[in-house]
Amino acid sequence: MIWNVEEFVRAATVTVEGLAAYVDESQRGGSPVLGRRPPRELAEKLGLVRWIREGGMTPESYAEFLAAYLDEGTRLHHPAHLGHQVAAPDFPAALADFVHGAANNPMAIYEMGASAATVEFEVLRWMLDTVGFGDTGGGVLTHGGSLANLTALLAARAAAAPDAWTDGVPADLALLAPASAHYSLTRAAAILGLGERAVMPLDVDALGRIEVTRLPDALDRVRRAGRRPMALVAGACATGTGLHDDLRGIGEFCAETGVWFHVDGAHGASALLSEEHRHLLDGIELADSLIWDAHKMLRTSSLAAAVLTRRESDLDAAFQQRASYLFYGDQGSDLIGRTVECSKAELGLKVFLNLAWRGERGLGDHVARQYATARRFWELARQRPGFTCPYEPESNIVCFRYGTGDQVEIRERLMEDGAFQLTSAEIDGVRHLRIAVMAPATDDKTLEALLDRIGEEGRQTSR
Ligand SMILES: *Cc1c(COP(=O)(O)O)cnc(C)c1O
Repeated sequence: MIWNVEEFVRAATVTVEGLAAYVDESQRGGSPVLGRRPPRELAEKLGLVRWIREGGMTPESYAEFLAAYLDEGTRLHHPAHLGHQVAAPDFPAALADFVHGAANNPMAIYEMGASAATVEFEVLRWMLDTVGFGDTGGGVLTHGGSLANLTALLAARAAAAPDAWTDGVPADLALLAPASAHYSLTRAAAILGLGERAVMPLDVDALGRIEVTRLPDALDRVRRAGRRPMALVAGACATGTGLHDDLRGIGEFCAETGVWFHVDGAHGASALLSEEHRHLLDGIELADSLIWDAHKMLRTSSLAAAVLTRRESDLDAAFQQRASYLFYGDQGSDLIGRTVECSKAELGLKVFLNLAWRGERGLGDHVARQYATARRFWELARQRPGFTCPYEPESNIVCFRYGTGDQVEIRERLMEDGAFQLTSAEIDGVRHLRIAVMAPATDDKTLEALLDRIGEEGRQTSR
């Protein structure tokens, strides 16, 4: 059936109005931050089975469905959303999702979406410039940081073992990473055929940061185990703590020893856009490969992540493939050779529209504001009895404890009535509560209310 464009306009209008009300209410904190209704009950409430079997939705019934759907979900724009590290998206990026949904130009092959592909090229060029990889670097956008880490490590594998693609993976490769590295890196090692055992832990301090002075020992250990380092991974910043590894120190070590240096900047690379915070990433230009998520601090929806390599040819070496219907002739303008994905969404447009609306400066200000709010939380928490804050935050991620009781129980109680969403993480084997300040609506009032509530619940759980 061809589109009835009048029906489309009505349905789209309902969507815009529904979303506007939803975001407005969310930002004002006028509703629970998340719904936790069990799936069976929720399916019933939303009438899912009936809709699937019978169809027949109209703009009017859709309006009702949408309202219930939004109401039962998680409100990322809510000031009390302090949970997972996904952006409260900015609306220009949301427009891009809508455009993609309607026009659908998956553009890994240039002819499948010339404008979408060109937008991605320019966004990548901007990212490469921002990182300091300049004209010689290469990049591609992928659906998320996990896939980006896999892609970057595939490039590292191709550099260390060029025949691995055809002959299989040599048994002696090793991946050096701190235990605080994101789990997708260990996963990538397993997917790449290295096996999880090939991941050799780097020495870290009590907060999980790589000890630069201990790197020579780590390399010795790898060599004594009869292995070759395929890559060394550093965090910018670590997911758990939001703390940064010393990229310059580590990068210089890698350059001297010829070890591929991979920086996981999924969360923290966006701090390059803030004058005040750029220093946290000092030395990033020494990386051989880097990943950078736009759906964390550049305020796009999930998912959009960049894989960037200092030398473009490294990224082109990551994959080799044959498919006569796609791969032939000069493919200089096709990104398909650089990704796991074949069809790939118009990810560049989301990043581009946020840039076009807010500018680099605006996005940098967003990072700075979120980091400042997290710092404010740390200042307030430190002044209150019962709170332990093991480090001064460097980003918008803060770990802390209240009392000595079960921290997970405190978290459960806060989420039970949808008052707050927060997470938890282990530091040096001890579980902490953890917040990630993602929503611009989070303010001092939210932070004080959170601390009050944690105090109340904490006193009850430790009874
Ligand atoms: C979030 C995150 C990832 C994973 O990214 P996804 O986009 O969620 O797949 C990887 N590394 C770090 C440091 C992260 O914070």
